[in-house]
Amino acid sequence: MPHAPHGPSGGDARTRILGRIVRRSLLRPFLLHRRNGILGAMTDFKTGAAFLGGDILPLGDAGLPLTDWGVTHSDIVYDVVPVWRGAFFRLNDYLDRFEASMNGARMEVGMDRAAIIRALHDMVATAGMNDAYVAMVAARGRNPVPGSRDPRDCENHFYAWCVPYVHIVAPEAAIKGTSVWIAKSVRRIPKDSVNPRLKNYHWGDFTSGLFEAKDNGFETTLLLDHDGHVTEGPGFNVFAVFGDTVVTPDDGVLHGITRQTVLEMCSAAGLKTETRALPLDEFWQADEVFLSSSGGGVIPVAQVDERYFSNGSAGERALDLRKRYFDWISQDRFRTPVAAPSR
Ligand code: PLP
Repeated sequence: MPHAPHGPSGGDARTRILGRIVRRSLLRPFLLHRRNGILGAMTDFKTGAAFLGGDILPLGDAGLPLTDWGVTHSDIVYDVVPVWRGAFFRLNDYLDRFEASMNGARMEVGMDRAAIIRALHDMVATAGMNDAYVAMVAARGRNPVPGSRDPRDCENHFYAWCVPYVHIVAPEAAIKGTSVWIAKSVRRIPKDSVNPRLKNYHWGDFTSGLFEAKDNGFETTLLLDHDGHVTEGPGFNVFAVFGDTVVTPDDGVLHGITRQTVLEMCSAAGLKTETRALPLDEFWQADEVFLSSSGGGVIPVAQVDERYFSNGSAGERALDLRKRYFDWISQDRFRTPVAAPSR
C-alpha cells in the first residue's frame, strides 16, 4: 500500500523545519555540556556509545568528516560481534575476519589486535550494556594531499560503536517464520567487483532489494547472483533444508560467523551439511528455509515470494537450531566476558 506523505508541505513546513534547525543549533552547546557532565554520563550511553579518535563518547556525538572516503566512497570494512549476557561471543573469530577484511582492503589503522580488543571492552563497559550489537570499523579516511586521488595517501582509521542488541527480525516474528522477497530489479554485486568476504559497506544492491521487499509487504530480501544462484541478504546468510541435509551457498557470500556456528550446530545435531552453489530452482524444492545472522541467530522463514515453506510457519529444524544458538552463545567456551574499563 502506498504511504501517505508525512506531515504538511510547502512554506509552513519549511518554516517549521528551519525553526527546528535554529533551535537545535542554539541548544547544542548546552546539550554537549550536559552530556559531558555527571548527569549526562549516567544516561547518555543508553542508546549507544562510540570509540572515536581514542575517546569514548555518546553515539549521538560521534561523526565522520565529510571528506572521509568512508563517507564519499563507502570505503569501509567492518565487523559486528554480539555481546550476550555480559560477554562477547566468539570474539577471536570476529576479529580474525575483521583483520582479514582490513588486509584485503589494504587498510592500516595503526592499532594491533590487543588495542582493538581494549577499545571494544572499554566502550561496551562504559556503555554498561549487557546485550549489545558491537560494530568495529576501518575507514579509508581523509586524503591529506591536496588534489590526490591516490588511495595510498589516505589516513586510514579505526572506530567502533555499540547499541543495544539488534534482532534483524523481531523475535516474535522470527518464531512464526519471517517473509523474504527475492529481489527482481537487482543482483548481488559480483564477487570479482566487490569481494563479499571482506565485510563492507557497499550496500546499494541490498538497499534496492529492501525497497522492493518493503513495497511488496515482505520483511527482508534475498539476492541472486548473475547465474541465478541464491546468495545472501542484508545482514544474513541463507540455508535450505532437504530432509536431513542442510545446504548453504559458499561462493560470492560473506562467510558469516553465525553461518559457521550453524554448520557446527548441525554436526552436533546429526544433520549433514553442504556448502555449495544453490540454484534458485533447487531452492524452491526445500523443506525448510532459514537465515543466520549475528543479529538474532537462526531466523526461520515461512514464505519466500508466493511460496510457503513448512506449511507457512517456522520449520522444525530451524526452530531447533534457533534454540541451540541461544544456548551456544551462553556457553563459556565461546564467551569473553566484558572487562571493567581500563581507564
Ligand atoms: N551476509 C552479509 C552481507 C552480512 O552483512 C552479514 C552480517 O552482517 C551476514 C551475511 C551474516 O554474518 P554474521 O553471521 O557474521 O553476522
